[in-house]
Amino acid sequence: MSETRESERPALPMKGVPQPARDEVLDLPRVHISTHPVIRHKMTALRDKNTPPPAFYRLVKEIGALLAYEATATLHLEDQQIETPLQPMTGQRLAGGIGITPILRAGLGLAEGFREVISEAQVWHLGLRRDERTLQAEEYYNRLPHQVNLQVAYAVDPMLATGGSAIDAITILKKRGIPRLSYVCILAAPYGLLKLSQAHPDIDIYIAELDESLNDRGYILPGLGDAGDRQFGTF
Ligand code: URA
Repeated sequence: MSETRESERPALPMKGVPQPARDEVLDLPRVHISTHPVIRHKMTALRDKNTPPPAFYRLVKEIGALLAYEATATLHLEDQQIETPLQPMTGQRLAGGIGITPILRAGLGLAEGFREVISEAQVWHLGLRRDERTLQAEEYYNRLPHQVNLQVAYAVDPMLATGGSAIDAITILKKRGIPRLSYVCILAAPYGLLKLSQAHPDIDIYIAELDESLNDRGYILPGLGDAGDRQFGTF
């Protein structure tokens, strides 16, 4: 009988790792879990294994737009003088730019949804890949500008699983001196949510739904599978 080489063994990085229960993370400060019925409705279709990639991608975008609506509700405004066709008036505009950082590649659909709400937002791509054995995140692509004039940046990635890449993405964005940062995801596991919240207690975290746990491979349960593969049809 041939032996399985170490590199061929399935990676089980979460095996035996204690995880917090859902109830233990429900009241974390600055964590916003959506209660919107339209998001719930779309989440069920998203999770369904029979939903094909084109519909899955469309749902990610739609949920992204709904989350963007929730996550931008507290943005700052400044006055702007304009003239309507009838008379001058003082309107308001967003005070400072908005940045969206999709974490490649699964964050792309979510970022598109955000852009449908804030079309003038800058998009700063950040490529982080996780090592399936150690779950450590490694940066492989970075298009963050050096000149920053934003009031907020949203790091977007559909799945907050172990929290490794989320923590790294926020650490990278913090070095750019952006005054306010938020993390936006579709599904979170209690483990990753707690880790991110502990590592970066000064950011807001927006989530469509909070799930139960991670399996031994670090996948969210009940989850929706691999969010990148399901968006882009790469099974
Ligand atoms: N990334 C995914 O795409 N799915 C998971 O369940 C966890 C991480």
